[in-house]
Amino acid sequence: MMIAVENVCKRYVVGGEPVTALDNISLSIAENDYVAVTGPSGSGKSTLLYTIGGLLTPDEGNVKVDGNEVYGISSRQRAKFRRDNIGFIFQKFELIPYLSALENVMLPLVLDDADALDQIDWGVESLERVGLGKRLHHKPSELSGGEQQRVAIARGLVNEPNILLADEPTGNLDMKTGDDIMALLSELNDEGQTIVFVTHDQARTRVSNRVIVMLDGRILGEE
Ligand code: ADP
Ligand code: MG
Repeated sequence: MMIAVENVCKRYVVGGEPVTALDNISLSIAENDYVAVTGPSGSGKSTLLYTIGGLLTPDEGNVKVDGNEVYGISSRQRAKFRRDNIGFIFQKFELIPYLSALENVMLPLVLDDADALDQIDWGVESLERVGLGKRLHHKPSELSGGEQQRVAIARGLVNEPNILLADEPTGNLDMKTGDDIMALLSELNDEGQTIVFVTHDQARTRVSNRVIVMLDGRILGEE
């Protein structure tokens, strides 16, 4: 799937004052791209990622996937578009503490009409994919930080998304565990997964095949 971000602007209002988070951003992402978005804190990286993923409506401009406007449809249709096409991974994992690894991974499937046994199979498969086939029934608190992030990645992959979006996926991990997570993302990209990830850590951008540098809501350039 081809993603096009066209002249996107996004403003927040904070204490009555407008804050420009995205200032006329244009960008295209090809099938099987591996894109790093970097820049200092507050430069608009997360806002861009959520806008690409159909989670945040821009004030101006368009996001198109295969030529279709992501924000030109109802929010219900957009939710379905996300379920069918987008996987998200967050810095803080965002796992539900009282659910097992498997139940956490199955969550994105709950809204679909698929057979419950199929959902379990897909959940197990996704956890096996990230090397956690032996941790299906562990709660997040019973897993290491790296394992929790791998559960979150398995959850992001369970709907077999066309595009995987990751916001600071190594931000809460030590160096070695972060390296393992990046190696896993690289492996997924080698297998054909399109990936866009955000990092404020320049060193983490090395694995990608494109590096987009942001500052003050703009794309400074591509390295
Ligand atoms: P980054 O991910 O690069 O740190 P963000 O996209 O989170 O940057 O934020 C870009 C700018 O928008 C920052 O100035 C931030 O304070 C502001 N911002 C982000 N989210 C919100 C929000 N929900 N409400 C108000 N301002 C926000
Ligand atoms: Mg951010």
